[in-house]
Amino acid sequence: MMEKINTALNKLANTGQFKKRYDHLKDEVLSDPDIVLYLNENSSTVTNEMVEKSLVKLYEFTTQSKHNCEKCPTLGECKNVLKGYQPRLIIQGNSLDLQYDMCPRKAVDDDKKKREKLIQSLYVPRDILSASIRDFYQTDSSAGRMDAAEKATIFATEYEAGKKQKGLYLHGQFGVGKTYLLGAIANELAERKIPSMIVYVPDFLRELKGSIGDNTLNSKIEMVKKASVLMLDDLGAESMTSWGRDEVIGPILQFRMLENLPTFFTSNFNFAELKNHLTFSQRGEKEEVKAARVMERIMYLADPIHLDGKNRRH
Ligand code: ADP
Ligand code: MG
Repeated sequence: MMEKINTALNKLANTGQFKKRYDHLKDEVLSDPDIVLYLNENSSTVTNEMVEKSLVKLYEFTTQSKHNCEKCPTLGECKNVLKGYQPRLIIQGNSLDLQYDMCPRKAVDDDKKKREKLIQSLYVPRDILSASIRDFYQTDSSAGRMDAAEKATIFATEYEAGKKQKGLYLHGQFGVGKTYLLGAIANELAERKIPSMIVYVPDFLRELKGSIGDNTLNSKIEMVKKASVLMLDDLGAESMTSWGRDEVIGPILQFRMLENLPTFFTSNFNFAELKNHLTFSQRGEKEEVKAARVMERIMYLADPIHLDGKNRRH
């Protein structure tokens, strides 16, 4: 009885659709150049029986991107069974199996994500993080820009955690690339695994104002205070209140001075204009002393550089 069933099954398997599909699969597998190479290289261990037994795995192998993502248009459209991983053949006991390793595109992408994680940016467009110092001066190399690029490079290549090193106060017209240069410095620091934080001052102050009275205000200020490398973008573009000056910006700068934490600024104002901006009258009073105190801290923390050039915003 058993014998009969086996014979019948064999007959079935050897005839018609199943046999056709099986042969087709085998042809496909044995015409894959990577498999041919592998079988040649391992001819002493891999038997025909092992190949037959592993046909499904081998077929999977033929359908995947195996070298440099050749079958996938992008990482997002990865065609492999395990997205971002490519198979290689291994011998597993008495059969062949696939081992999946990270593909080159995912490796590059992971690296980029790791780098971006090192740059915290509050309200600053992330595309600025592809900026480079080289691009900053190569597109326009006036004296002021070369000077800025040189100082930026010195900082980005020489700074180490704990080292006392002055930041830069980049000032100049709207659109000349002040924020771009900050992004470039942050990016090059990140390549050296040094974290930094870029904060767009007007939005930061607005958000803090909204947090008065809830318990997040202090932790938000603390986070900025203690950033390893802080970049305050567009100081002076906010409508500065005495609260913003004396309770937020002043204490942040004071802390960073005492702790030797590097701090960068960008502004449309030079020092004299910023001082004037910080000396606003409240109930008719000019608060020159308080403004002067903040200015002293800024000048202690950063060297001023005037950036010229054309407005790149249009
Ligand atoms: P600012 O902060 O001085 O107002 P931005 O840094 O925002 O100016 O630069 C204005 C625009 O020009 C942005 O879109 C920025 O990405 C672009 N940009 C600035 N400098 C460069 C550069 N060297 N190469 C390419 N794009 C640049
Ligand atoms: Mg800017």
